[in-house]
Amino acid sequence: MRLSRLFTKTSKTAPADEVAKNAQLLIRAGFIHKEMAGVYAYMPLGLRVLEKIKQIIREEMNALGGQEVMMTTLQPKEIWEKTDRWDDAKVDNWFKTKLVNGTELGVGLTHEEPMVDMVSNYVNSYKDLPFSIYQIQNKFRNELRAKSGLSRGREFMMKDLYTFSLNQEQHEREYEKIVASYLRIYDRVGLGDITYRTYADGGIFTSKFSDEFQTVAEIGEDRIYVDEKKRIAINEEIFTDENLEKLGLNKDELIEKKGVEVGNTFHLESKYTDALDVYYTDEKGQSQSIIMGSYGIGVSRLMAVIAEIFADDKGLVWPESVAPYKVYLVNIGNNDGSRSEELYKELTDLGVEVLYDDRDVRPGQKFADSELIGIPYRVTISDRLIESGKYELVERKNGQEMLLTHEQLIDRLS
Ligand code: ATP
Ligand code: MG
Repeated sequence: MRLSRLFTKTSKTAPADEVAKNAQLLIRAGFIHKEMAGVYAYMPLGLRVLEKIKQIIREEMNALGGQEVMMTTLQPKEIWEKTDRWDDAKVDNWFKTKLVNGTELGVGLTHEEPMVDMVSNYVNSYKDLPFSIYQIQNKFRNELRAKSGLSRGREFMMKDLYTFSLNQEQHEREYEKIVASYLRIYDRVGLGDITYRTYADGGIFTSKFSDEFQTVAEIGEDRIYVDEKKRIAINEEIFTDENLEKLGLNKDELIEKKGVEVGNTFHLESKYTDALDVYYTDEKGQSQSIIMGSYGIGVSRLMAVIAEIFADDKGLVWPESVAPYKVYLVNIGNNDGSRSEELYKELTDLGVEVLYDDRDVRPGQKFADSELIGIPYRVTISDRLIESGKYELVERKNGQEMLLTHEQLIDRLS
């Protein structure tokens, strides 16, 4: 991509009403556009980051045998009434709307009910189970406060997976595999060291805990107690002596931290399947309950957390796995630009993703923008470097500079 063609531009300021650091930086660098509080559009650079995060999640879900679908945003009220989740007194952050004829509709805030309803068309016998289904799509929630940028949107991207199992034992096995895959996902996006499986409230219809995945961060709205050695944590909500004992945690070894919930997995038992009348017939011809789990990851929230945690005073610092491009190529000086054009072509042909700053602007602005945008490697070509036959490579995350020959550079980047 040539920066001269990119329609977005960097800016020295973010909207005055934007208080979240992630959104301020992402707006200034041209990754997102603020439509209104809690509602953001993704610009080309931002969309590339979002897609990379989605792809990592998708790979892990597919590796577990998850099958991808895309459910609808508009929801009929009837299925939500069956589980008693339509009433505003029960779920207070629904967006609802009406058809011209007055029929009420909901705007999807989660998808347990529609998933179960859809599945009912295909599940009859024990031979049809187990399976898991997931989607990656926007959810809508009428959040009271939306001051955390992408971290708490009113429209935000979620990956939600649902498992359907024959019995509790099979469910537990599936569940643990998914927890393990979640930890791999956080690791792959660069947050592995500071993200903890965190025991939390399981909801009203199960005695089990749910598992939250909490990344330790200043923007966190949750308080958690971390056991560094065991690499697990417990949410403040359920922090009681009784629960600590149940979980085998020792109060003296726990450290209080602020956490941001980047995922949440639930044991749903057969609450939803029973409520929507979806059963299977076992080998003996008896009707049996289907055991379900649901598993969410906040995709756009992850992007916010990554943006915010790694940023420094110069701007964004993307981990390579989710960076919009790997290399930011800069040409400065009076040379005719042919050297940088050649390198741009060569790297691109090798499959290296390059953002090429071919603009006619001062070197200072090119360097500042490369830092604000946060691409992992900057390669500079200048008149002096052309003369010496070298390329300058600077690593964004630590500022480390290297002078490399052409061969060394290609080796390093491909
Ligand atoms: P929170 O407690 O932060 O409001 P939640 O428990 O209501 O989140 P879930 O229903 O568990 O959220 O949704 C699954 C995941 O989606 C969460 O773990 C979180 O990462 C993400 N998420 C939830 N609400 C939002 C939001 N408003 N904006 C962005 N991501 C969100
Ligand atoms: Mg949650």
